[in-house]
Amino acid sequence: MFTFLSSANKTFDRGVHPGDFKELTRTHMVERMPLVDEYILPLSQHLGGPSKPVVKAGEKVYRGQLIAQAGGFVSAALHASVTGTVTAIEPRPHPSGRMVESIVIKRDLHSAQRLFDEHVLDWENMQPAELLSAIQKGGFVGLGGAAFPTHVKLSIPEGKRVEFFIVNAAECEPYLTSDHRVMLEQPEAIFLGIKICLKILGAERAYLGAEINKLDALARLQNKVPADLPCEIVPLQTKYPQGAEKMLTEAVLKREIPSGKLPIDISVVVNNVGTVAAIGDLFRYNQPVIERVTTITGPGIRKPRNVLIPIGTKLSEVIEFCGGMSDDVRQILFGGPMMGNAIRTTDIPITKGTSGVVFFTEDEMISTREYPCIRCMRCVDACPVYLNPTQLGALARAGRYDEMMDLNIMDCMECGSCSYACPSNIPLVQRFRIGKALLREKMARERANG
Ligand code: SF4
Ligand code: SF4
Repeated sequence: MFTFLSSANKTFDRGVHPGDFKELTRTHMVERMPLVDEYILPLSQHLGGPSKPVVKAGEKVYRGQLIAQAGGFVSAALHASVTGTVTAIEPRPHPSGRMVESIVIKRDLHSAQRLFDEHVLDWENMQPAELLSAIQKGGFVGLGGAAFPTHVKLSIPEGKRVEFFIVNAAECEPYLTSDHRVMLEQPEAIFLGIKICLKILGAERAYLGAEINKLDALARLQNKVPADLPCEIVPLQTKYPQGAEKMLTEAVLKREIPSGKLPIDISVVVNNVGTVAAIGDLFRYNQPVIERVTTITGPGIRKPRNVLIPIGTKLSEVIEFCGGMSDDVRQILFGGPMMGNAIRTTDIPITKGTSGVVFFTEDEMISTREYPCIRCMRCVDACPVYLNPTQLGALARAGRYDEMMDLNIMDCMECGSCSYACPSNIPLVQRFRIGKALLREKMARERANG
C-alpha cells in the first residue's frame, strides 16, 4: 500500500506548478452526449498519413463500421460514429485551423444505433500479433491528445525488448479531468487494456502513474488491481509537464531517456490511460474508436462537464449541451491551457485527440505585452529537458534558427513551462514552435535534394 504524503511521492526534476483548476469538473460523472443530426469525420485526426475513404457519398454506414482505412503504417483507420448515410466527402473546418478532407454522415433518425458487429474478442486465445492487428484495425491513437497511432507504439522494432509498460494517467494539464473520470468510472476496462498491452509487448510489469490531485482515483485503482496482474499504482507529486513521456518515465522508474531517443530505447513503452481503457472496450465489445471522454470546462462555459462524445460531433453542438458559452468568452482552447491550440470557430468537430476544450473569459486573459529579458533564469530552472530557453529565445527572435540546432532545440517538447515561468511575458514556446517547424522544412528540403 502506498502513502499519499507528497514528499514521499515520485516526480521528475524541474518543471512548474500551475494552478490545476480541476475543481470545475473533477467530481462530475461522465455524461453521454445526445446524438445530433450530422457528424464530420476528418481523414487527418492523428499523426501520420491521412486515412483513405472506403465509402462513397450516398452509402449507408453503421455505427462502428470501417469508413476509411489507414493510409500507411503510421496512420489510423476511421469508423462511423453513428449509423446513417454518407452525404459528402469534402474539405471541412478542422481544429488545426485548416480545411481538411472529411467524411460527413447524416444520422439515421430511426436507427437504434447498435454497434456494428458487437461481440467479445477472445483475447486470451489470441496471439500478440493478432491482438496488435485488432488494435490497428480499431483505429486506435493516443487519446491523451498526441493522437499518435497506438499500433505503431506497441510494435517493437527488431532487436528491442520491453521490460516495463507505463500507463500515463498524470493528466498534468490544468483544467482537464477526462482521464481522472475514466480512472474512477472504468477501472475494469483499464486493467483489461493493461493485460492486453502486456501480452502484446511481452513486458514484465506495468506501472500506472497518476498525480496526487487525483487521490480518489488512485485509491480506487489500488483497490481494484486484479491479483494476477503485475501492475503497480504509482502516486506522483503534482507537477507540470509530468504527462510528457520523458518526465513520466523519469518520475516512475528514475530512468532517463537520452536526448533524441524514445522510451523503447530504454525498454519502456508508455500509453495514455484513456487509450488503455478504450483498448479494454475494444476487446469487451469489438468497439473501435468512435467516441471519447472530453472535458468541457473553463469559466466561459455555463455547465462544465466531462462528456462522452461521438467522434465528429461539432463543437457548437457540445457547447449547447453544456448550457452555452457566457457572453464574455474571449478564447477557446482545444486541449489544456499549457499545450492547447486556440481555435477561431466552433464549427469544427471533436476528434480522437480532443481531451478537453477550455473556455476563457476576459478575466482570465493575461497581458501579452512583452518586456525585455531580465536574465532571471527562471525559464532555465523550469525546463525539464535542460535546455537554455533564454538563449534559444534570443536566437529565435533574431531568426538564427541554425544556431538553435546546436543548442538542441529539437529536444524541446513545446511544453510551455519556460513561457509560464517567464516574468517578462516572452512568448518562448511560440518562437520555438516556429523555429522547429522551419528547421524541419529545411531538413526535408535537404533530404529531397540529396
Ligand atoms: S524549452 Fe521547450 S521543453 Fe524546455 S520548458 Fe520551454 S517548451 Fe518546455
Ligand atoms: S524567464 Fe524570461 S526574463 Fe527570465 S531569463 Fe528566461 S527569458 Fe529572460
